Amino acid sequence: MSQLEPVKLRQDFPILSRKIHGKPLIYFDNAASSQRPKQVVEAMSNYYYQHHANVHRGAHTLSVEATEMYEEARRKVARFINAPAAESVVFTRNTTEAINLIANSYGRKNLRPGDEIIICHAEHHANIVPWHLIAEQTGAVVKAVGLTSERRLDMEQLDDLLSKRSKIVAIAHMSNVLGVVHPIREIADKAHAVGAVMVVDGAQAAPHVPVDVQALAADFYTLSGHKMCGPTGAGALWAKAEILREMPPFLGGGEMIRKVYIDHSSYADIPMRFEAGTPNIAEAIGLGAAVDYLEGIGMPEIFAHDQAMVRYALELLKPLEGIELYGPEGADRGGIIAFNVLGTHPHDVATALDGEGIAVRAGHHCAQPLMRALGVQSTARASFYFYNTEEEVDRFVGALIKTRDFFAAFA
Ligand code: PMP
Repeated sequence: MSQLEPVKLRQDFPILSRKIHGKPLIYFDNAASSQRPKQVVEAMSNYYYQHHANVHRGAHTLSVEATEMYEEARRKVARFINAPAAESVVFTRNTTEAINLIANSYGRKNLRPGDEIIICHAEHHANIVPWHLIAEQTGAVVKAVGLTSERRLDMEQLDDLLSKRSKIVAIAHMSNVLGVVHPIREIADKAHAVGAVMVVDGAQAAPHVPVDVQALAADFYTLSGHKMCGPTGAGALWAKAEILREMPPFLGGGEMIRKVYIDHSSYADIPMRFEAGTPNIAEAIGLGAAVDYLEGIGMPEIFAHDQAMVRYALELLKPLEGIELYGPEGADRGGIIAFNVLGTHPHDVATALDGEGIAVRAGHHCAQPLMRALGVQSTARASFYFYNTEEEVDRFVGALIKTRDFFAAFA
């Protein structure tokens, strides 16, 4: 196993001591949302108990303190993804809102009829539907790269798809179903070679993989706080400052303006131009605390632990009959395992596992095109984080065998 100490770290997470149906909880639904350590909840309580006021508005002490804490959180997020400057980090509610912002601002300004937006078949709906909406409004077209037989992004197909018409390439850093980490740098270089910008959906990677937006050569990077030990309602969009500065506002209202007249207004500089209205202040501060917490453990250590967990679990799962596994194996595989018990609906599998205290997700995982490509309606999914242990994997595999055998008796 890796250097990190899951058993010690678990003490920061009171929820992980819960029993579900009388059994110790095994939380394997981290790709949907991780749990929060006390440090994050305490940072938010401290803000509410001692410092709350609206930000960027008042000269009074509390407002100055709240503003400083909020802006400090922005600097932490910038540091976490190695952004060159905090001014190009925009707080959003989540990844979904961040991608909608890009589509509605950058996309609306730059897309023309016939232009192409390139995604891949494994994208989450959050990185598909916003592009459909803006394509309908601008006359642009959405095209998708397929997967290889190993279920990696097909780089040859990407080469074939890319052309002077490509304006936006939008790909997840890590798939929420296949667990594969896409070669973003290589994809970004190809996108740039035809004059397209690179949008990276970092919802799954930011919590698990060390992220360096400069090394990735990304133009846009998005993340969700709730998947990385932060609160719900806090996410971020990072964009290259020179691109963000040229983008028109997405939402209008207070705080995003320079001057407002009855018939027109002018807009604030970045990042405020994209943060209309009172933001999720406590949540942003909570996200900053989550970043501190993750950095305290170490992102390389977290990724190594996830990978060790997935290797261990796959070793146990692969020999099992009647269990189908999805996703490639190798150094590019993060801690997610999508699987099916053949002949049994994944919802039944997830319900049976819940009876054993094990939380897994079942469904299409907001990736219907991928489900079609895999030839299934839905799958179950186990996803790991730094607080999960090999012993939990052992219990999970035992419970899965019991579940398979139980349903087989009715087949
Ligand atoms: N992209 C990916 C790859 C995801 O896994 C998710 C969350 N399941 C999202 C985008 C959307 O994240 P959110 O719901 O936090 O906006």
